[in-house]
Amino acid sequence: MPIPSRLDLEETMIRETIKELIPYKVTQIENVVRLDANENSNNLSFMIDAEDLNRYPDNDASTLKKAIASYLSVDQEEIIVGNGSSEMIELLMKTYIEAGDNILGFDISFSMYKIFAKIYGADYISVSNDNYVMDMDDLINQAILKQPKLILICNPNNPTGYLINKTDIERLCKSTKSLVVVDEAYIEFCEGSMINRLGDYDNLIILRTFSKAWGLAGARVGYLIASQTIVNDISKVKAPYNLNALSQGAAIKALENSCETFKNVDEIINQREYVYNQMCEMGYKVYKSAANFLYFEEKESLYDELLSCGVLIRAFGNRKYRVTIGSKSDNEMFLEGLQSVQTRMVI
Ligand SMILES: *Cc1c(COP(=O)(O)O)cnc(C)c1O
Repeated sequence: MPIPSRLDLEETMIRETIKELIPYKVTQIENVVRLDANENSNNLSFMIDAEDLNRYPDNDASTLKKAIASYLSVDQEEIIVGNGSSEMIELLMKTYIEAGDNILGFDISFSMYKIFAKIYGADYISVSNDNYVMDMDDLINQAILKQPKLILICNPNNPTGYLINKTDIERLCKSTKSLVVVDEAYIEFCEGSMINRLGDYDNLIILRTFSKAWGLAGARVGYLIASQTIVNDISKVKAPYNLNALSQGAAIKALENSCETFKNVDEIINQREYVYNQMCEMGYKVYKSAANFLYFEEKESLYDELLSCGVLIRAFGNRKYRVTIGSKSDNEMFLEGLQSVQTRMVI
């Protein structure tokens, strides 16, 4: 593709607010152990019926919603499903954000919050968690001061793995009229979901996904649970047939086989603790994690050095890295990679 000249850039009709955005890039490298995207390395590959692809999918995804409702003991009317929780984040902005509104969250956290905020013309105000701890007092103070429309909390947090306790999130819900969105993309890997508090707070919204613990990243299925008022609001802007029939089918199958998922989750948690301990023993500064990944610090060249050992991790700059906990053999490859890098350092 030709690189646009300055003139082209000036002549584009693109909206002013999104001019500066850079398209989301994903590192596509073949034949490596992929520990960069927090996917599940276990492929459950359920067979799904694909008979009715001549028809539009169920617009309400009622079978899937019924299955989710029974899994979480919530009302079916309190759920919206879509193309990954990413679509849920965007739907929230589409529904509630006017240009110039404030959105509050932590930094560092899931990168898409800031990007969607920018697309919808909101100011993303962040509270620093550079020291790893997410300080709820700081966040509450900012919420009172800045009156954001939305407060986005990732719990446990991506990429740090830090888990905020429920009492703190409840304190936040009580002390603000803002909508409190708790992104529980990794909640299956720990205790502490806010699901059973939904009835207590009208401003509480929970996001979940099938992309991580449930091993369905390729199917793109996520959902939102909130009060019926919020669900009604969001339903006004949701595109018709937003979740295709194949993905609805895959998520239903996954829920029918939830035992397998939870067995796999237990293994990942054991592996996470094993890898954590091994890394500590090697002398790495690695943070305690409640999710399926570990956040750690190391010299600048680690990303390339591990890649030359056939292992792909995520680099965040500033010598911070995140590694996904994969299968036993994936994790061994990663640890062996770290060993060989260290040995080279000593020589
Ligand atoms: C992976 C991830 C998601 C998005 O997942 P989808 O594949 O869009 O469902 C959402 N939030 C966080 C924090 C994530 O890490």
